Amino acid sequence: MGEAGICDRIWRDARLVTCVPGQPGVIERGVVAARDGRILYAGEASLAPPLRAAETVDCGGRLVTPGLIDAHTHLVHAGDRSGEAARRLRGESYAAIAAAGGGILSTVRATRAADQAALVASALPRLDALLAEGVTTVEIKSGYGLALEPERRMLRAARTLGERRRVRVRTSFLGAHAVPPEHAGHADAYVDEIVGAMLPALAAEGLVDAVDAFCERIAFSPAQVARVFEAARALGLPVKLHADQLSDGGGGALAARHGALSADHLEHLGEDGIAAMAGAGTVAVLLPGAFYFLRETVAPPVAALRRAGVPMAVATDCNPGTSPLTSLLLAMNLAAVLFGLTPEECLAGVTREAARALGLARETGMLAPGLACDLAIWDVTSVEALVCRMGPNPLQARVLGGE
Ligand SMILES: [Zn+2]
Repeated sequence: MGEAGICDRIWRDARLVTCVPGQPGVIERGVVAARDGRILYAGEASLAPPLRAAETVDCGGRLVTPGLIDAHTHLVHAGDRSGEAARRLRGESYAAIAAAGGGILSTVRATRAADQAALVASALPRLDALLAEGVTTVEIKSGYGLALEPERRMLRAARTLGERRRVRVRTSFLGAHAVPPEHAGHADAYVDEIVGAMLPALAAEGLVDAVDAFCERIAFSPAQVARVFEAARALGLPVKLHADQLSDGGGGALAARHGALSADHLEHLGEDGIAAMAGAGTVAVLLPGAFYFLRETVAPPVAALRRAGVPMAVATDCNPGTSPLTSLLLAMNLAAVLFGLTPEECLAGVTREAARALGLARETGMLAPGLACDLAIWDVTSVEALVCRMGPNPLQARVLGGE
């Protein structure tokens, strides 16, 4: 502890949920002490070493959790597809809408037409909605540019969002999201461009924290995804995958084989994929907003994932087409109701396991000594009250790096 427990700030009288495996679900009369943005101590007040701080915050018995982490978003995009969603609800098929110029390529057209300032301006309200609910770390993907320049604008916009607000931003390069119209029917040639030109250039600019891809019959094949992953690993970048959302294409196993941080969606993940992910420590990122909004009927195999010990994260998948969701609290509720996660699993899914899905397990996601002091302080007294309500936002304060 050094210097006789001198710290910058202490939060006392907290109902503390540390999300550290093996620790009690809730620690009554908990205390968190921080110095230089890092946690010095988090636990029972009666067990704490002597602590002195310039400032003490009385939490008044409120619930204090790690700051929330949204580990899968397409927050940066232009255009509006709510009209398209309404057509789908009236019974038009996605294929018919896409054939008429809708679908993901309509977002690509709008995003290509937007400059960086416009991308930042349109994303800020979405980011602010997440922050208002205690989010301290957010992942933001590219993937609506599908060419070097617009992908660069998207990633720069994501970095700018992290400068405009107090939030930790992790970027994922998702060039392999869809085949752009100019490469229609020539996916392999587009993958050549991704691995030969786009990824090296964007990585050299420091714009890429991880590399993502969409493995699906309507997107990229396992062999094409493998090429993208090999290029990422050659640059020392971690990988993740949109996998097994619409069919069991072996995406979970593919991700695990490449040591992916996470495989995301997973509605159609099979037994082989579960075993491979368990062996590789690949996090299952569950996206109940997309499941709900697409009115899917096959849920991800949560019981089997739990049995196999695969860590499960929960995220919004915030995007204009299939999950226009800017509430991580609602995502937790949907994960509980639609997928059968327990309230504790929901909270771990937006803290500890979400950090793992972003390669940040040694940085944030738990209240433990040495990690960043990222807190969410809530006007409720239990984790159940956080998960089992729809609509209210009980956030009382958000702390990033001790501030
Ligand atoms: Zn996604």
